[in-house]
Amino acid sequence: MARTGHVIAVDVGGTGMKAALVADGPDGVRAVEQRRRPTRPGGDAVVEDVTDLVEELRAASGRPVDAVGLVVPGIVDEAKGTGVYSANLGWTDYPFRERVEAATGLPTAFGHDVRAGGLAELRQGNARDLVDAVIMPIGTGIAAALVLGGQVSSAPGEVGHVDVGHGDPCGCGQTGCVEARASSAAIARRYTARTGRRVAGAAEVAGLLAAGDPDAAVVWREAVDALARGILLVAALLGPQAVVLGGGLALAGPRLTDPLGARLDELTTFQRRPELRLAALGDEAGCLGAALLAIDMLEER
Ligand SMILES: [Zn+2]
Repeated sequence: MARTGHVIAVDVGGTGMKAALVADGPDGVRAVEQRRRPTRPGGDAVVEDVTDLVEELRAASGRPVDAVGLVVPGIVDEAKGTGVYSANLGWTDYPFRERVEAATGLPTAFGHDVRAGGLAELRQGNARDLVDAVIMPIGTGIAAALVLGGQVSSAPGEVGHVDVGHGDPCGCGQTGCVEARASSAAIARRYTARTGRRVAGAAEVAGLLAAGDPDAAVVWREAVDALARGILLVAALLGPQAVVLGGGLALAGPRLTDPLGARLDELTTFQRRPELRLAALGDEAGCLGAALLAIDMLEER
């Protein structure tokens, strides 16, 4: 099939849903119309809201829409089209693809939010020139899309939940997870626990760090250490050319990449020390990736 006209992409996040009418063009896919709404938990509620968003965007488009691309968090079975498990959003083995196809009457591609975001960075973001890479958004949680041999692997990529030895408990039931110290949520929480002062998020801690706040410096250094150790483990196993950092924490830019690069230099012995890059597509990556999944599906027909 020729390159498609328009698809509708929906990225279901832990707190909000992003939907877009997406056009395909010579420079890649781009959103031409967008909608956002809060996420309601449960598979049925999500399908209901996805269906509403698809209808709204279809009405707004005035052009035929060829397919839907839907991505969700948690454990995802792309082949079966099911959301296997999401602790936060409350589903187990939920048949998203089938339900959305039935409700919208449109062919639907289904995938994982982080892997889809990685696909978008690989096709049209800051991983375009890479063959082996780790694309790691850091927000409320930490996960990664693993690019191996130029393809986004279906591997879980749960680098946020590997034990790097600090001993603190994690929501997943283990101790010592990267995420328990280095997610945006963990950085804000740990600063507040240390000082008794509330902060709006990791960005505020980064600001305090720049202003010379010693508590922010400790929390930041511990986050960077956990992250470096997680990246080192991935480097030992996969030897990626680069780690592309995205999500809210990557907005800290060099305040993140400078100390992280320095810590990697200190810790690396035999591993290939990956280049550190910042993601290009921001919080649109998941939605653009969902659109790419839909377009790939149409082209394979
Ligand atoms: Zn964990």
